[in-house]
Amino acid sequence: MKSKVRFNLQGTARGKGDGTVSLSEALSRRGLGSTPVIGVMASLKEEPESPTQNPLDRFVRTDLDYVESVAEAGGEPVVIPPSVDLRIAKALLEGLDGLLLSGGPDLDPGYYGEAPIVELGMTIPEWDALEMALLRLALQRGMPIFGICRGMQVLNVALGGTLYQDMPSQLGVDVLDHRQASPKYEPTHEVEVLDDSYMAEIMDRQSVEVNSYHHQGIKVLANALTVTARSSDGVIEAVESCDFSNSWLMGVQWHPEGMGHTGPGHRNLFEAHVCAAERHSLRRAAA
Ligand code: MN
Repeated sequence: MKSKVRFNLQGTARGKGDGTVSLSEALSRRGLGSTPVIGVMASLKEEPESPTQNPLDRFVRTDLDYVESVAEAGGEPVVIPPSVDLRIAKALLEGLDGLLLSGGPDLDPGYYGEAPIVELGMTIPEWDALEMALLRLALQRGMPIFGICRGMQVLNVALGGTLYQDMPSQLGVDVLDHRQASPKYEPTHEVEVLDDSYMAEIMDRQSVEVNSYHHQGIKVLANALTVTARSSDGVIEAVESCDFSNSWLMGVQWHPEGMGHTGPGHRNLFEAHVCAAERHSLRRAAA
């Protein structure tokens, strides 16, 4: 499967006017190597026990599994702090070829026009604001975006969709337990991957064992997205772009960064994203 995904990476990119630009030509114009740069959204973590007595006791933090998954897939991970100002964030975005939206706390439901319900979990306003702003800019630029857990939900909302603020209370007792207590390398439920999806091609299977750490989920799907996997209770577990020729968008509700040893399909997701980012960088270089 690895070679199949890689094989889709064409050695040429269409030039703006006449003919094609060779891979090496495009890369030398850009003045960089062929490693696409993937921005990984980080979290803010409160550390009240901090020995440094930082007055805010908050630190930028991301799970190393995201960083390593991007690196193992051939990308160059760059961690984006969630509290820089938008001017700096825009400058950071200039240097990226792809964006990885990581898991995290709940998104403020105001972004999809709802008031919070009591079951809503913690939100981090700085993270929400910066991520939504960055995401909109990245979407405008046609940057390949891979959303994981919260990242898939944020992607759906940025494109006009909505979320269940809390699936257990809003969907009722028939919903599976999507909040496992076990480690993330242990799958706890299955998802069915829909035929004819790009995801089915990437993962090369119809049924995938996944981990699950979410109490929110997609309610109304954005028009630009299509569902590519569901769990047996009907919960949307993966989405992708309706139109890959315009934008490479993919979202999964599980944490593939913690399942690289469970099955090759999970690693293929990161590879496909990095390949798309490489194509995006070539198109930019040739423009
Ligand atoms: Mn789940």
